[in-house]
Amino acid sequence: MRPSLLDPLFTPITSLAGVGPKVGALMERILPLDRGAHGARTADLLFLLPSSVIDRRSRPGIANAAPGEIVTLDLIIDHHQPPPRGNRSVPYRILAHDDTDEITLTFFHAHASYLEKQLPEGAQVIVSGKMEWFNGCPSMVHPDHIALAQDAASLPLVEPVYPLTAGLSGKVLRRAITQALARVPKMPEWQDTPFLRRQSFPSFDAALARIHNPETPIDAAPDNVAWRRLAYDEFLAGQVSLALVRARVRRLSGQPLTGDGQLVDALRASLPYALTGAQDRALAEIHADLARPERMLRLLQGDVGSGKTVVALLAMARAVEAGGQAALMAPTEILARQHFSTIAPLAERAGLKIAVLTGREKGRERKQVLEGLDDGSIHIVIGTHALFQESVVFHRLVLAVVDEQHRFGVHQRLAMTAKGDAPDMLVMTATPIPRTLVLTAFGDMDVSRLTEKPAGRQPIRTVTLPLERLSELVGRIRDAVAQGQKIYWICPLVEESEEVKLMAAEDRFASLQPVFGDQIGLVHGRMKGSEKDEAMRAFKEGKTRVLIATTVIEVGVDVPDATIIVIEHAERFGLAQLHQLRGRVGRGSKPSSCVLLYKEPLGETAKRRLAVMRETEDGFVIAEEDLKLRGEGELLGTRQSGTPGFQIARIDTHADLLETARDDARLILATDPDLQTPRGKALRLLLYLFGKDDAVRLLRAG
Ligand code: ADP
Ligand code: MG
Repeated sequence: MRPSLLDPLFTPITSLAGVGPKVGALMERILPLDRGAHGARTADLLFLLPSSVIDRRSRPGIANAAPGEIVTLDLIIDHHQPPPRGNRSVPYRILAHDDTDEITLTFFHAHASYLEKQLPEGAQVIVSGKMEWFNGCPSMVHPDHIALAQDAASLPLVEPVYPLTAGLSGKVLRRAITQALARVPKMPEWQDTPFLRRQSFPSFDAALARIHNPETPIDAAPDNVAWRRLAYDEFLAGQVSLALVRARVRRLSGQPLTGDGQLVDALRASLPYALTGAQDRALAEIHADLARPERMLRLLQGDVGSGKTVVALLAMARAVEAGGQAALMAPTEILARQHFSTIAPLAERAGLKIAVLTGREKGRERKQVLEGLDDGSIHIVIGTHALFQESVVFHRLVLAVVDEQHRFGVHQRLAMTAKGDAPDMLVMTATPIPRTLVLTAFGDMDVSRLTEKPAGRQPIRTVTLPLERLSELVGRIRDAVAQGQKIYWICPLVEESEEVKLMAAEDRFASLQPVFGDQIGLVHGRMKGSEKDEAMRAFKEGKTRVLIATTVIEVGVDVPDATIIVIEHAERFGLAQLHQLRGRVGRGSKPSSCVLLYKEPLGETAKRRLAVMRETEDGFVIAEEDLKLRGEGELLGTRQSGTPGFQIARIDTHADLLETARDDARLILATDPDLQTPRGKALRLLLYLFGKDDAVRLLRAG
């Protein structure tokens, strides 16, 4: 149970004054971590740190204030000049002065009663805002802050600026954060005191207070001690929780999996191609891991189309040779079924019994799969989240393969760990994750890389085209269809809702159907599973030649003879996503192309992104550019720039702390494995604060 000390920080943000469901939803959009169905908690607001500050400390006096400068002025109010009655287009003007000059404060659509109260004639006041000069006359339009001189302390001279989203005002956000700060309880220190002293780190609550109420811009800078302290807290929470998971994993130590090679050899012989050198090497590394008594925790990294699936299949075959079962988890149902349909024929020819399990299998069908897994007659199962369910019991699960890892969280990995007989884990991802990020996101995993593509692949020609030339493009697509080519047509990414997404796809379908007749198909997220299958199959078999799709096909879909992909409103997609999508073509031996349709005018970043796509097909180069353009956060699909899975820490600024945190975590667990000492107990608070409840639960589970 979470210590009740922390309760005030674990209330939903809507428990704060001024935060209703609507404002709460807006706030969730800017919070760096997605809490999913649980919604954001008060603590999440504490960790929403300012993206910059406005420095209002300059107090030069009216006469010396430069145009455009943010200044704070000490004024005496002389005279109110309301607009003539009934003429709202004339602003409300207030004349004031200081020792140096006179100034006009200008308000459009003002409420006279409000201004009379805030800035009464004769009063000494303090205002802050941007200085402007109109025809040589000093003025300030809508000062950001106004206060009577006696309340001057309420005016922030260094004002933190938070990321905002449309409809959410900075004032509302600040007010909520101030309340959250007031709820921080007095807590014991969880960091090593000599370490804190060496680093000149303030205490946790002092660090938060300093960043949210800075006295100088430096107070709120990421490389300053206050922010670094919190980054270290976050790293340590992450490293301690990973270390706890690892300790647990080690306690359930693995089993050596070896085999006579019969299955693996038979499968390899039945492949219509030879493995690439990189696939061979990765497979050798995996088989060696499997043969060791320790559990395998390996990441298989390979760009889209590099052929990860077959490596997974051969790894699973070894697990079966060793007398166990294997499971392959995919993030979407389409992908699970696709894996099943490519793997099943190969596997069955080699004498393997293989099944699929997603949310769709119901009744008898589901019961049969569950029984087969339980009695061991099914060797390999391919599925979605459905595999995590409690009703799924394995006879002897020894290998779990997770495809496109970043869609699954640590939580789900733990759930899978609990399923089997301490199964070995193979995690596959197309995202080229830099080494440091592997450490933060996965802990110490071994990595195999597929650095080459299968032979015979041709480069994908990528072109960009303004939306105005749509009809020209449709003409060319028609020619391509006449030549028997297959085309994906990806509909724009829309944030709003599933409904709008659907509309975009259905509109495009409706507008193109007259051209392509029954050769055009549609697949989107709202379709029933069986309808999706049907649409994918029709496209795969060539009954349809143009497939209109929402981004449901983004990850992993394999139709090797599709040769053209059109991406509508490409400017709305991130680089990683564009790269993933483009990877749907260029999978066979025929030349392919990718058409990025964009709407003008293009912003600078969008322009750069499209240029990168034209220039390179190399996933690593693209990931690097992505990092430059958007920060690491987007790489693994988290929302804010920052480091994946982190609210505060940034790899670029705080990398030096990460290694220290890892060593610190190891040392802590070596001496206090159950977090029972006073520091250990304080560390439990830290784990909760950073949402590592799973890890704390492991402590008790033992
Ligand atoms: P990804 O790494 O993106 O998951 P897939 O496993 O889907 O890639 O493989 C992409 C395509 O390449 C598939 O059609 C697969 O059959 C094919 N393929 C895999 N390995 C090879 C190889 N060594 N030679 C030729 N084609 C291959
Ligand atoms: Mg794949």
